[in-house]
Amino acid sequence: MSSRPVVILSDRLVDLIAAGEVVERPASVVKELVENSLDASASRITVNIQAGGTRLVQVADNGVGLSEQNALLAIERHATSKLTRAEDLEDILTMGFRGEALPSIAAVGRFVMETWDGSSPSGTRVVIWNGKLSKVEPCARPRGTTVSLSHIFRNIPARRKFLRSRGTETAWCMRVVEESALSRPEVHFEVHVDRGSPTTFPPASDLRDRIAALWGAADVRGLFPLESELDGIRVSGFISAPNQTYGRRSRHHVLVNGRPVRDPGLNRAISSAISSVYPSGRFPALVLSFHFPAGELDVNVHPSKREVRVRNLPVVSTLLKRAIKDLHNITSPVRRDYTPQPPAPGGLASEGNRLFGASCVSGEATASLPMEGEGRVIGQFLGTYILVEAGDDLRLIDQHAAHERIMFNRLLSLRGEEGGPSQNLIIPALVDLSASEIANLLEKKDILRSFGFEFEDFGGTQVRVTAVPARISERIVYDLLKSLAADFGKGPDLPEEVALLISSRACRMSVAAGRNLSPMEMRRLVQDLEDAEAGFACPHGRPTSVSLTRTDLERLFKRR
Ligand code: ADP
Ligand code: MG
Repeated sequence: MSSRPVVILSDRLVDLIAAGEVVERPASVVKELVENSLDASASRITVNIQAGGTRLVQVADNGVGLSEQNALLAIERHATSKLTRAEDLEDILTMGFRGEALPSIAAVGRFVMETWDGSSPSGTRVVIWNGKLSKVEPCARPRGTTVSLSHIFRNIPARRKFLRSRGTETAWCMRVVEESALSRPEVHFEVHVDRGSPTTFPPASDLRDRIAALWGAADVRGLFPLESELDGIRVSGFISAPNQTYGRRSRHHVLVNGRPVRDPGLNRAISSAISSVYPSGRFPALVLSFHFPAGELDVNVHPSKREVRVRNLPVVSTLLKRAIKDLHNITSPVRRDYTPQPPAPGGLASEGNRLFGASCVSGEATASLPMEGEGRVIGQFLGTYILVEAGDDLRLIDQHAAHERIMFNRLLSLRGEEGGPSQNLIIPALVDLSASEIANLLEKKDILRSFGFEFEDFGGTQVRVTAVPARISERIVYDLLKSLAADFGKGPDLPEEVALLISSRACRMSVAAGRNLSPMEMRRLVQDLEDAEAGFACPHGRPTSVSLTRTDLERLFKRR
């Protein structure tokens, strides 16, 4: 077999290969362009995302702009104004430094840059099609720069195929803007998505105000400030209480020396630091800003600078643990105002329970009641188990698991039934959400409607809910929608998966709101479980009840 000749790659191929690293999806373009605008000292940045960024990603700023000569240089590979000496890599103060973003972006679609730095009578417009310079001409514009990318990946079908739905891509773009907005509260951000009204983050005087613009003022009241220092490493920021957690890292923002990062190592250090206080498998809302001295950190390990290398991760963990311990001392009196969550199955760590003094013992509902069918409800144990006398057996029903099974079946069976599944809210609920969470929710709108949810984007950081599935208590609508929006993130996509999420969240919340069931409620629950298809297990596969037979008891008491 003859070997193929070794050749030096053409510039075009080199660009495409590098572009593959830098531009993974439209959100990567948003990230690089916004970082360039921040590096250009912009005080105002406008982002425009059309069709999930597939039709257009545009970032406009009022920064320092570029001369024609520099504009042409900037689109060359490894052209940067931010780094001249190797030593500079040790202590990087700008967001960019690799000089790769613009040529990489220009390689994957139709790229237009308009810019003016005020040094000449007119600005410059540069057009590049798939990496090839097609036009340079003067243009009139205020000082600053606007970069637009359309037709992304038209020439790279392999990459185009990996794009998710428009809604998902939009949510990722929004997430990037939110991260940048958190990293620079003083900068005005405005985001236009398709034809909707824009989301704005007005200049904020501090991080807390910026978080309020993102998540709504109500949620910021549930955050605790945190600050600590160890061995020259500093952390400051905000974290939610252990009863306000999420199933994903959807409200998890980590900044390192001012740069938003998503770093597995740091995330592990954070998880280990909070593990004794927060329920396992759940994530608090947090915005943490770390400052590492030069030499403790390498930011040049990832093409899009998403990950960083921290020299001493255990110190980070210790530092955080200490910060959270302080937080506990400061805030434990405040926390009494919170409604404690019931212990999640295998969830809330025992220390978390103690923190909130959540008593699990119910003093009520011990009356025995006649019950149709199989048995008689004789009481409730630990506010968690319903006791049923069923012939010669004693049945213990896990009310949480039972609830979940019943609601899950009901959501699926009522699907699409005319007028069946919905109940209108007397007063529509306004739910405060971040823009990316709203995008998550809107993406699942059809599935949610088939289950009986009616809601609409109410502009800004709110969604207006007018109807919910029948039998979901109005009390939990607000928290439920919030938790769903946060957990939707990348999935789930199938109706069953969505139903599972709704039923487990809704049940956890409604059981939290009233763990002491009235005799009536217990009877109804037992009856519904009796009637439910696959009622022996909750939708996660845990048993809903266990039985002790007369023989079991006699053995235990050594009567046999
Ligand atoms: P890097 O940011 O790593 O330097 P880029 O390819 O992103 O590389 O940008 C190349 C250069 O183009 C930057 O160093 C900067 O001088 C210039 N530039 C890019 N975007 C802007 C902007 N929005 N405003 C002013 N200058 C910009
Ligand atoms: Mg850059």
